[in-house]
Amino acid sequence: MTHPLLDLPPLTAERFASIEQGVADLLSTRQDVVITQGEALLPLEGCIRSGARPGSTALNVVTGPYGTTFGNWLRDCGATVVDLQVPFDTAVTAAQVAGALAADPEIDFVSLVHAEAATGNTNPVAAIGEVVREHGALFMLDAVASVGAEPLLPDAWGVDLCVIGAQKAMGGPAGVSAVSVSDRAWARFAENPAAPRRSYLSLLDWKERWIDGGRKALLHAPAQLEMLALEACLDRIAAEGLPAVAARHAAAAAATRAGAQALGLAPYVGRVEEAAPVATTLRVAEASLVAAKALAADPSVPLAAGGGALAREMLRVNHYGPAASLGVVRDCLGALAAALSAPAGAADAAVSAAESAWADTLR
Ligand SMILES: *Cc1c(COP(=O)(O)O)cnc(C)c1O
Repeated sequence: MTHPLLDLPPLTAERFASIEQGVADLLSTRQDVVITQGEALLPLEGCIRSGARPGSTALNVVTGPYGTTFGNWLRDCGATVVDLQVPFDTAVTAAQVAGALAADPEIDFVSLVHAEAATGNTNPVAAIGEVVREHGALFMLDAVASVGAEPLLPDAWGVDLCVIGAQKAMGGPAGVSAVSVSDRAWARFAENPAAPRRSYLSLLDWKERWIDGGRKALLHAPAQLEMLALEACLDRIAAEGLPAVAARHAAAAAATRAGAQALGLAPYVGRVEEAAPVATTLRVAEASLVAAKALAADPSVPLAAGGGALAREMLRVNHYGPAASLGVVRDCLGALAAALSAPAGAADAAVSAAESAWADTLR
């Protein structure tokens, strides 16, 4: 008996290349796109190990937990690392990045996370890209939590390495990711003797054996299920329209923020322009207890306490992918109202505030 997930024919090189072109179109990029068959930490680590080496100096912007991971990889590569850390409830500014670059002219690599699903903030990449380009450093962006949810224009913004994953706003599986690579980045990788080669972490292997060969021969059997799922994500986004997908995420964020405030909860990210469309974080005492109560009231809602130490003070509403909908926002507010034992009528008021904010955003 055939099974929908099994008994699939092999994925051809041609189809693989056409999915890469779909990702390039999604990013409006003319750079080379490499699809990486693993969770997004694979290309992120591949970029850092290819771009950094003993003797390099990296500016690592830390606006959430992923920045700490990048700093550890950079140090592991022997790079000198300048960490620019800002409080996780704010965004970094282009002026702060410019100041750090001016203080250390040796900086030749900059790593930045665009939107942080874990903390709910988003950084002004266009303005930061301008100062990084002026300085001349290679610019790596983790756009896993921003792709689909907000504008993302690596070419216009001077991003040399733009990493995306399918599992957030794209509404896909976690087992596939991609990176766009500028000519400058390829040149830097090629002259780095420490860059991974003949390795699953190697981007140069894909450049030399796949891209330079005209995308005719894959390096190994492609992960069919993930590739087909990524193709389906791209098709679904194309059918809805990328601007409409992003607008839906912006509306979910605005609605969640307004509804939570009506319930008396404070947004974790104070300034609305620094709040990520992918997830709304709230300042809640004993957040893990509140999350557990909310999930007991409605196990379907995408609510979670913050990770690690944040579990005491922050609650996340993960309104991304298909969960970026007014229905899910309403359900989340209902579950939160139940968890907080909010007075009768408070849940209704929160839902009306959310509905108004949703409509205003999409107007
Ligand atoms: C979700 C996400 C990733 C992927 O990591 P997971 O641990 O699989 O969730 C990487 N970077 C950012 C900024 C993310 O939000």
